[in-house]
Amino acid sequence: MNISLVLTKQCNLRCRYCFETHENVYMSEETALKAIDMAVSDGGNRVGVSFFGGEPLLCKPLIYRCVEYSRQFADVQFSWNMTTNGLLLDDEFLRFAVKEKIEIAMSHDGLMSRANRLYPGGKDCLAALDEKLRLLLTYRPGAFIMATATPDTAGTVFESLKHLIDLGVRRFNLAIDSRPEAGWDEESMDSLSGQLAMLGDLIFEKFSGGEDIYFNPFEEKILDITKDRPCHVCKLGMRKPYIDWDGNIYPCIQFGGVPAYRMGSVAEGVDLSLREAIYQSSLQKPTFCEDCAMKKRCVNDCACLNFQQCGDMAQVSGEQCAYQRILITRADEMARKMLETDEKHFMKRFISDTK
Ligand code: SF4
Ligand code: SF4
Repeated sequence: MNISLVLTKQCNLRCRYCFETHENVYMSEETALKAIDMAVSDGGNRVGVSFFGGEPLLCKPLIYRCVEYSRQFADVQFSWNMTTNGLLLDDEFLRFAVKEKIEIAMSHDGLMSRANRLYPGGKDCLAALDEKLRLLLTYRPGAFIMATATPDTAGTVFESLKHLIDLGVRRFNLAIDSRPEAGWDEESMDSLSGQLAMLGDLIFEKFSGGEDIYFNPFEEKILDITKDRPCHVCKLGMRKPYIDWDGNIYPCIQFGGVPAYRMGSVAEGVDLSLREAIYQSSLQKPTFCEDCAMKKRCVNDCACLNFQQCGDMAQVSGEQCAYQRILITRADEMARKMLETDEKHFMKRFISDTK
């Protein structure tokens, strides 16, 4: 069983696109350890734990405690990961993370951070993020970095992501501000599309020079077609329940605190019939997508994202549809160039199973 633990809703940043409430609430040790007990009692010999927030590094002692607690389950193999803004990373924690094999994904928007990643007083934190990113990369050269674009920063996506690459990042993602009020329009989407074309050219250039850059959306969209596989299988609530700071369990992050989606708690366990009902209701695909040629390569079935953006698991927002189309188009352009210039390398990377 895999679980996500929301250690707190509080954060040391106030990103402009954040959907978190920043309440001063923290998961207790008792709740966290019960959640681990629950995951272990599921019976498998593997348990995955994700530390989440708010900012999970505000709760470092609880992270240390969870890892220590897990040692008593000698027959269970634990895997750990966390999503953090990175500002509280330090040598001590990173040494611990390397020793305990805790995967760290850091959010950093590159130069877009100046506009969107702000301290509570309103000052941007780009310099601090850069410093922490350098530190993270010394311990974890392959760390995964997550960036977010907003309509007003769409025109700087290329230089922002290049900034990350120049700092040594080799694996990264780009999401769009998906709040309904974000304000995407045709102009900002066109701008984003042009920026991603430039990014595709840069990745192609690096690829031609023998460098491996993993930009998750392009890579996965290419693999969806070369491997003829569905792009995204959501399995809402079945794979990784989201355990809120108070021990209540929800199917995924966007459903946190919504009473109709509360599937149980660490004290009561999971209501399996409710979980199944939620899962079944998430299987309904957007009718809007029925005739779309891109549907196998689109995250249109992400119930969590659809619920956040449209309040309905079976509807995709116009912004997400536009973004998916851009990603698929730009990924294919990049793939075509790679295939034409270095077929052998392309086949190894995207077709061979020995990649
Ligand atoms: S770091 Fe994450 S939780 Fe904190 S303000 Fe930014 S988006 Fe919100
Ligand atoms: S690109 Fe748009 S219409 Fe096509 S499957 Fe995705 S969300 Fe649906």
